[in-house]
Amino acid sequence: MDLHDSPQDAAFRVEARRWLEANLTGEFARARGLGHMGLQHQGRELRQAWERRLGRDGWTCLGWPTEHGGRGLPVSQQVVWHEEYARADAPARINVMGEGLLGPTVIAYGTDEQRRRFLPRIVDGTELWCQGYSEPDAGSDLANVQTRAVPDGDEWVVTGQKVWTSYAQWADWCFVLCRTDPAAERHRGLSYLLVPMRQPGVEVRPIRQVTGTAEFNEVFFDGARTRADAVVGELHDGWSVALATLAFERGVGLLGDVVGFGRELDQVLELARKGGRSSDAILRQRLTDAWVRLFVLRLNTLRSLAGVDGPVAPPQASIAKLFWATWHRDLGELAMDVLGAHAAVAEQFPYELGDLQRMFLFSRADTIYGGSNEIQHNIIGERVLGLPPEPKVLARETR
Ligand SMILES: Cc1cc2nc3c(=O)[nH]c(=O)nc-3n(C[C@H](O)[C@H](O)[C@H](O)COP(=O)(O)OP(=O)(O)OC[C@H]3O[C@@H](n4cnc5c(N)ncnc54)[C@H](O)[C@@H]3O)c2cc1C
Repeated sequence: MDLHDSPQDAAFRVEARRWLEANLTGEFARARGLGHMGLQHQGRELRQAWERRLGRDGWTCLGWPTEHGGRGLPVSQQVVWHEEYARADAPARINVMGEGLLGPTVIAYGTDEQRRRFLPRIVDGTELWCQGYSEPDAGSDLANVQTRAVPDGDEWVVTGQKVWTSYAQWADWCFVLCRTDPAAERHRGLSYLLVPMRQPGVEVRPIRQVTGTAEFNEVFFDGARTRADAVVGELHDGWSVALATLAFERGVGLLGDVVGFGRELDQVLELARKGGRSSDAILRQRLTDAWVRLFVLRLNTLRSLAGVDGPVAPPQASIAKLFWATWHRDLGELAMDVLGAHAAVAEQFPYELGDLQRMFLFSRADTIYGGSNEIQHNIIGERVLGLPPEPKVLARETR
């Protein structure tokens, strides 16, 4: 496998780098570094203006087909874009849910009318989305979703509670997994509904986290309304659509993350060199190990994306998720060990965390969202190793 850019990819890299250099200037110079892990609440207006700038110049939705407003670029160039974007320390994207999840789902399962209505506003960065799947009793066991949607004339009326909803505080729309056939069991009888967020029946309550900030939310639907034709895919078949959305979640962005991880590791290494703790034999081994594992992560991600022109297949996606999430969580712990006693003290009163402290705390979430480590182990155990399936008794008892 050739790890160098092809001539076309190299030319594209230059184009992407030049555009980023030329545009992360003026008002957007301040946007550099905004909104990364543990700081997603930062700079909403500036980041949305940046989203529109990206859209104006054709730098959103690079992998979408051209007939839906994308650029139809191959995976290799989407990867290049993510790497250059991370290298430039451009702000965290504010519409990842729209571009990465809802858009591809509407392209695959939506009606022409839904495509015309929703896709252009994701491409140009004017409408933001959030993902309404998880509920207090439906996380790993997603089929246990209890939020209900009931038809009322030419509308649906939605009632229920979602939780951990990232970006809900800013989103214009939410794609909601909800129960439309109450008589059906578990994953049968669910539908995938598009619900406007700015209406009286929707209440968003931010959840304050251990980082001191609030990135995600509880969302209460209390008689919220949406149009009858806002179902994506077949009525009562939202489970297939919801799973398809999750398959879009893992892919080309990981190599951009790897660039960010490398930057964090450099910070830890720098600290170890300066702080003199590099003489600690165990710490030296862990630092070296972190570097090697990051190198392996990059190579393996490149390998799994080579020749792929869509979502990465489930076993590879699970291996990748398990590997990077565990790596990042371990890096957080390593950073705290290198910081030593300073790790326990906030940088400024009352609770101003340093970058590494914030990374440590936020990285605890990595092994949970997008499918927890335990769930990835289950998938790999059952689908790759052919182990007997886990007993389903617990899930039924806790309903
Ligand atoms: C930062 C962050 C952002 C998120 N953003 C969103 C969002 O935008 N929209 C959204 O819908 N959700 C979001 N989530 C929710 C996320 O998808 C869930 O947290 C995740 O699916 C786990 O569900 P849970 O929290 O209910 O934990 P549970 O499913 O209750 O799990 C609790 C523990 O039990 C383990 N466990 C559960 N079932 C099994 C099993 N069968 N075998 C072995 N172990 C098991 C889990 O691994 C975990 O350790 C976000 C979560 C985080 C942390």
